[in-house]
Amino acid sequence: MKDTHRHQGKRKQLVKVIQAKGIQNEKVLEAIGRVPRHLFMDSGFEDHAYEDKPFPIAADQTISQPYTVARQTELLDVKPGDKILEIGTGSGYQAAVLLEMGAQVYTIERQKELFKKTNLFLPRIGYRTKKIVFGDGYKGLPEFAPFDGIIVTAGAPFVPKPLMEQLKVGGNLVIPVGKELQIMTVFTRKSEKEFIKNEFGEFRFVPLLEDKN
Ligand code: SAH
Repeated sequence: MKDTHRHQGKRKQLVKVIQAKGIQNEKVLEAIGRVPRHLFMDSGFEDHAYEDKPFPIAADQTISQPYTVARQTELLDVKPGDKILEIGTGSGYQAAVLLEMGAQVYTIERQKELFKKTNLFLPRIGYRTKKIVFGDGYKGLPEFAPFDGIIVTAGAPFVPKPLMEQLKVGGNLVIPVGKELQIMTVFTRKSEKEFIKNEFGEFRFVPLLEDKN
């Protein structure tokens, strides 16, 4: 569980790469610069951890590409103290970036194996979420709602209504919508009843799966 000078050097380069691809928010760049991504990956991929690419993790899932994590974090517009719900905990990398932004993080994962692994791993390297839940992200987390922001890190075939309902007025729901390809979509809640929708280009995620039962 080491973070060496070599890792830190590679991470600085990664920050430059994603900045060149268009990430402007300094706080987001700093957060990416602090999270030791190599620790979130299987040791076989460690040498590639600071390439701007997704990689396989357990249970046929992936750790998202750093650019995508940075872009979603930027679109979420996180402020210190914000209460954020993440759907799709996966490796915990996105959750760690949100914690580095000063957010209070609630995150849901539907794969038992990943849930167990990440639930042990994050605190072990000093990242303390408010809650990691084993469950179905389509339902959100009504018992902890409302949230200042909600981020979905898997491709959603449609926008789950509970997620819209669990957003505070003024908050953003950042969600890649689509089946094969997804359009990064941001819904900003303007009032109880009114949402504004903006779209931010194509991405490719693993699918947000509906309940096994
Ligand atoms: N944020 C993760 C990305 C993981 S990939 C990271 O930084 O590593 C997307 C994750 O969403 C996978 O772990 C997958 O198991 C999970 N997922 C898919 N459908 C889900 C659902 N309905 N509810 C919760 N998690 C889901």
